[in-house]
Amino acid sequence: MTNEELWQAVLGEIELSISKANFITWFKNTSILSNKDGKVFIGVPNGFAKEWLENKYKLYILRALRNIQSDVKEVSCSIVTNYQNSFKENKLDAILPPPKVPSPQKTVLKDFDINQKNNLNPKYTFENFIVGGSNELARAACYVVSQNLGKIYNPLFIYGGVGLGKTHLLQSIGNEVFKKDPDCKIRYTSSERFTGDLIESIKNQRVSEFKDLYQKIDLLIIDDIQFLSGKEKTQEEFFHIFNFLYQLNKQIVLSSDCPPKAIPTLEERLRSRFEGGMIADIGQADFETRMAILRKKALNEGLIIEDEALEFIASNITSNIRELEGALNRVSASAQLTQEKITLKFVSALLSEIVSSSKRGSITYKHIIKIVSDFYEIKPDDLLIKIRKREIVRPRQIVMYLMRSELNYSYPGIGERLGGKDHTTAIYAFEKIKKELTFNEKLIKEMDILKKQLYSLG
Ligand code: ADP
Ligand code: MG
Repeated sequence: MTNEELWQAVLGEIELSISKANFITWFKNTSILSNKDGKVFIGVPNGFAKEWLENKYKLYILRALRNIQSDVKEVSCSIVTNYQNSFKENKLDAILPPPKVPSPQKTVLKDFDINQKNNLNPKYTFENFIVGGSNELARAACYVVSQNLGKIYNPLFIYGGVGLGKTHLLQSIGNEVFKKDPDCKIRYTSSERFTGDLIESIKNQRVSEFKDLYQKIDLLIIDDIQFLSGKEKTQEEFFHIFNFLYQLNKQIVLSSDCPPKAIPTLEERLRSRFEGGMIADIGQADFETRMAILRKKALNEGLIIEDEALEFIASNITSNIRELEGALNRVSASAQLTQEKITLKFVSALLSEIVSSSKRGSITYKHIIKIVSDFYEIKPDDLLIKIRKREIVRPRQIVMYLMRSELNYSYPGIGERLGGKDHTTAIYAFEKIKKELTFNEKLIKEMDILKKQLYSLG
C-alpha cells in the first residue's frame, strides 16, 4: 500500500467521525510525508492545521492509521508551504465539492479597501478628549503619532484600566489622519476581531488574502491587545504582519489593559516588539478632569445643571469615565421626562442606588475635613487658613492625603480647596503621610479609624 493509498483510507474513516466543515477545514491539502519505523509524518498546509491536527484530531488519526497498519506508534505534522505545486490534490477534492467561497458582501475583510467606510467612530476625536494629569502623556503621544505617522513612536502602546479613554484616543489618531489624508489606509480593529477574522480566513482558505490586506495598511490600530494572550497561532500571524509593516515604517498603535510585560502568555518576541516603541499609560482621572468631562458633555447636550450637582456626580463616580457619562445620561433622560431642574437634590436622589453601591458613598472633601477636624479636635476653618502650628499642620496633611487617596483629587485641586495652598505643599503632604503609613503604628491606627468614620458617613 502506498502512502497515498494509506492516507486516503485514513481520511475515509475520519470523515465518518467528524463534521463535514471540520473535515474540509483541517484535512484539506494534507498527505503522508513519510511512514517509517512506526512514525508517520503528515504534511499540512499551515501552522493552524498543524496545531489543530496535533491537539484535537491526533487520536482520530492514530486510531484510523492503526486500523490499517497496526505498528504505527507516533504521528506528527509538518508544514509544507508550497503545497499546491508539490503534491497531488488528495481524496478530499475528489469526494467533496470545493468549500463555498463566501459572497463578497459577507467577507469580513471587505471593508479594507474602501477607506471611506473606515470603522472609526467619528465622535472619538482629539477635540472631544479632555486632557488632565492622568492622560496627558498618552494624549500627547497619540497626537504626535497622528502628525508623524511611522516616524517617531513606533509602535505606540497605550495601556490603562477599563473606561479610561484608550479606545477614544486610539480612534482619535485614526480620525485625525483620515481628516488630513482620506487616502491613507487605516485599519482599526480589536485583537478579538483580528483573531476572528483570521480564523474565518482559515476556514475560507483565504489566509494569504487576509495577510495581503493587512500588509497594505499604512496605519494599523489594534485595540485591547491583551486578548491575544494564549492565542499562539494568532500571535504568530500578528508577529509577521507587525514585522512587515514595521519594516516599511508603517505606523502601528496598540492598546491594552496592562503594560506588555504584564500580559500573560505573550510570546517573548512580541513583548519585546511592543516594548520597542513608546509606552504611555492612562490613569484614573482626577476630580478636575472628571468635572471637565461632565461640563463639556453637559454643554454639548445643552443640559442646564447646577455646579453642585455636577460635583456630586464627579465625587461619587471616580474610577471609570464610561460610568461617569452613563450617570450624566441618566440624569439628562430623567430630567427631560420630569421637566425638573437639575439640582443637587435631584441628582443625589436619582443616583442614590449607583452611589450607595459604590464603596465611596457620597463622600466629598468636606466630609474629610469634618472627620479629621473632629478627630483631632480642631476647628475646620483652621485647616483652611495659614497656621503653621503643629496641631494644625499635621491634620491638614492628613486631609490632603485622604483627598488624594480616597477621592483622587489632583494636587493643585487639593491646594486650592485648602485655602489656596501651593500644589507642592499637597505633594509634600501626601508623600510624607504615605511614607509614615509604612512604619508609624499610631498613624496607621488613626488612619484606620478615620477611614471607617468616613465610609460610615457615606
Ligand atoms: P477604554 O477603551 O479605555 O475602556 P473608552 O475610550 O471606551 O475607554 O472611554 C469610555 C468613554 O469615556 C467613551 O465614551 C469616551 O469618549 C469617554 N472618555 C474617556 N476619557 C475621556 C476624556 N479624557 N475626555 C472625554 N471623554 C472621555
Ligand atoms: Mg476600549
